[in-house]
Amino acid sequence: MSVLDKFSDPKLCRSLLDRIHAELDGELRFMEVCGTHTVSIFRSGLHSLLPERVIHLSGPGCPVCVTHESEVALYLDLAARDDVIVATFGDLMRVPGPGGRNLKAAQAEGARVQVVYSPFDAIKLAQDNPDTKVVFLGIGFETTAPTVAATVKMAEQAGLTNFHVVSFHKLVPPALAALMADPELRLDALIMPGHVTSIIGPAAYGFLADEFKLPAVVTGFDPLDILQALLELVRQRNDGRAEVVNMYTRAVPEEGNPKAVAIMNEVFDTSDALWRGLGRIPASGLEFAPQYERFDAKKVLGLTLHEEPPIPGCRCGEVLKGKLAPNKCPLFGKACTPAQPVGPCMVSTEGSCAAYFKYHTEL
Ligand code: SF4
Repeated sequence: MSVLDKFSDPKLCRSLLDRIHAELDGELRFMEVCGTHTVSIFRSGLHSLLPERVIHLSGPGCPVCVTHESEVALYLDLAARDDVIVATFGDLMRVPGPGGRNLKAAQAEGARVQVVYSPFDAIKLAQDNPDTKVVFLGIGFETTAPTVAATVKMAEQAGLTNFHVVSFHKLVPPALAALMADPELRLDALIMPGHVTSIIGPAAYGFLADEFKLPAVVTGFDPLDILQALLELVRQRNDGRAEVVNMYTRAVPEEGNPKAVAIMNEVFDTSDALWRGLGRIPASGLEFAPQYERFDAKKVLGLTLHEEPPIPGCRCGEVLKGKLAPNKCPLFGKACTPAQPVGPCMVSTEGSCAAYFKYHTEL
């Protein structure tokens, strides 16, 4: 059985691959900006079927991976307090902070850390523990932030005074603009994140075509979706065109999700944010709007970010900028494995290093 036989429509995929092989003129260096695309490309084996001249780079699309060292240090310090219950999604539990500490170890040592499956679960936690502050760790892009904003409004309606959020939410377009401005990044085209785009709409990436003259395609996560996107990118590149094309119309409306954007913009204001590997990027984060400040854990608990150095030897920053293939990190597969991760790109299910380790066959 070949890799192709496992695809949803092997015949159509073969035909798309043949077209890519036949039409590609020169090299296509493309970046996918979504951890789910990273995983799909490796898990499906698609990576091994593409022409060598199609060069795949992963971008900063894994929200756990781009959470900055200083932000990880802050929430680990928070977990050490005995007046707080930290509520978090499970994928943050093993992200290493300073000295290799993580939430899982803190929990084993007695810290009150609770894994939740939705921010709404944190509301229940706050209701069940009225004498304790419950702090939800708000990590994620435009896909997650509207749900967290809706949770804050629910807490307000329920009259909860012990529910708070540490907002480390990040916005994708400003980070891409910062990354594309890097003269060292040689890129021909982008595959855009389907989930984020379902909220903000494809027009949010107009600057990629207008300012950076880069073709960009919004697409789904099936290998068939990705192959269609790659053929479109090859054709744009051959024609000297740079357009943002939405090929994921079954899930991504042209206008995005205005209701989700409205609730996000009601509860949060944009702010500068720190990104692992990319540093401080103007207007790329979300902080509480003044009328919701009482839910802001940073303000209520007086939390401030302290500069934390990168994890020694870990090159996640370069991986997230598409400058280093995961297996080129000297620690990859040796000191750093999914069982013993040194950096977040090896922890998260959407991390490039974890996907590369798990699915890549040419190690
Ligand atoms: Fe960081 Fe490990 Fe990836 Fe190296 S292999 S960049 S140490 S996560």
